[in-house]
Amino acid sequence: MLAASGLHKTYGQTTALDGADFSIHAGEVVAVMGPSGSGKSTLLHCLAGIVRPDSGSLTYQGAEIDLPDQRLSALRRAEFGFVFQFGQLVPELTCVENVALPLRLGGVRRKAAEAAASSWLERLEVDDVRDHRPGEVSGGQGQRVAVARALVTAPRVVFADEPTGALDSLNGERVMELLTEAARAAGTAVVLVTHENRVAAYSDREIVVRDGRCRDMERYA
Ligand code: ADP
Ligand code: MG
Repeated sequence: MLAASGLHKTYGQTTALDGADFSIHAGEVVAVMGPSGSGKSTLLHCLAGIVRPDSGSLTYQGAEIDLPDQRLSALRRAEFGFVFQFGQLVPELTCVENVALPLRLGGVRRKAAEAAASSWLERLEVDDVRDHRPGEVSGGQGQRVAVARALVTAPRVVFADEPTGALDSLNGERVMELLTEAARAAGTAVVLVTHENRVAAYSDREIVVRDGRCRDMERYA
């Protein structure tokens, strides 16, 4: 569904991507692992159309993505969801308003948007903090809210960059479990950059990024 080949990206003297190839099928959960600085975030940003690679090609549902920016941001909003290490919730809005926000930006009325947001908060087991602001909830709760916000628009792909990096391992695993379960139920593909070592339990496939290149990791049962 989404494929990249030969991605190169340099920042000044630094080579972040050095001929990276990547692909993900509809509904698939792919874990992206690798040492710090190996290019994982850059790969994710290129795949999501946030960063334009210096060279290489990107196809989404069979069509090359090299769109003018405006169409690319429309595609991003309609088809992609994002979760970052720190949820990046809007501090002035309550949790339910945060989750409803992508729908509101897409023109959905408040009542309908908040109803959908509420049901996602329930699925992520954080409906008890729906009327709290992000500053009043724990890190784990905040990340669940961020996951709900990423999934509320029923995206085709969710990009998650170390979404559990700031959590203790118990909370981290639970967030990963909820994210991947919810995505699977919705048929959403997930590109998940993670350090969680039990990632195999949640993903269909693991790839390792090293020196700006991707390598499929063999599964040993
Ligand atoms: P990872 O997510 O695996 O830690 P990154 O993709 O963030 O790796 O970074 C890969 C390399 O590119 C690193 O050496 C990093 O310092 C560099 N890099 C990433 N983004 C930028 C940027 N915006 N400006 C300069 N250098 C960057
Ligand atoms: Mg990173």
